[in-house]
Amino acid sequence: VANVSHELKTPLTVLKGYLETLLDTVPEEQSRLRRALTQMDNQSNRMEALVSDLLLLARLEGTNADNLSQAVPVHGMLKRMRENALAISADKGHSIELDVPEEARLIANPAELESAFGNLITNAVKYTPAGGQIRIHWWQDERGAHLAVSDNGVGIDPAHIPRLTERFYRPDNSRVTETGGTGLGLAIVKHVMIRHNGKLEIKSQLGKGSVFTCHFPAERLVSKPTAVAG
Ligand code: ADP
Repeated sequence: VANVSHELKTPLTVLKGYLETLLDTVPEEQSRLRRALTQMDNQSNRMEALVSDLLLLARLEGTNADNLSQAVPVHGMLKRMRENALAISADKGHSIELDVPEEARLIANPAELESAFGNLITNAVKYTPAGGQIRIHWWQDERGAHLAVSDNGVGIDPAHIPRLTERFYRPDNSRVTETGGTGLGLAIVKHVMIRHNGKLEIKSQLGKGSVFTCHFPAERLVSKPTAVAG
């Protein structure tokens, strides 16, 4: 899977490049052609997202957890993600609350954390109707560190929850094209959590909203924040 995904990258880049040029040059009056090109462009973006998620997942599953761990300052990371999420939300006007202590640090692989948290936060925006509320909450206790991303969006039927982290598993296929996801996001989150000796917990109520919580063990906490470089 890793090799195939990697090999698909170059042809896709070429296709996307020509599509972009064509969209720039085809005049507005040729609306049928423009519609076709726009669809091709959307679908090639989707394919690109799929290829990159497949590649990431193959790496997460097929390699040992690396030793790129460092004391990650999670507040800055989550603050940037909140801003990205607001940009994705755009005119949908979600409110996104960030409740993360500034000094929070986690011994982790920053790129992997970024993928996991990014997927949860993007999903909260995707699956919450306009004007909805999203909260990003970090806390620490004797059991470890915890990140909860909650929303008051569409929610998930409890029957589907145990299978949500399977690759390509989606409770409602009709929404797939609308939200443009890859169906791999939660599989990525699950694997990142396994590699960090942690766990993903999902709680949801159909029509009410969802809470996705990442639990990290206490040994990943930085006891003396000044002792380890951030
Ligand atoms: P994708 O979002 O690309 O379909 P994911 O693996 O990220 O794939 O999520 C799998 C499924 O879980 C989604 O299709 C959606 O049905 C459900 N889901 C994920 N996050 C949420 C959420 N915050 N609220 C409601 N449903 C969600």
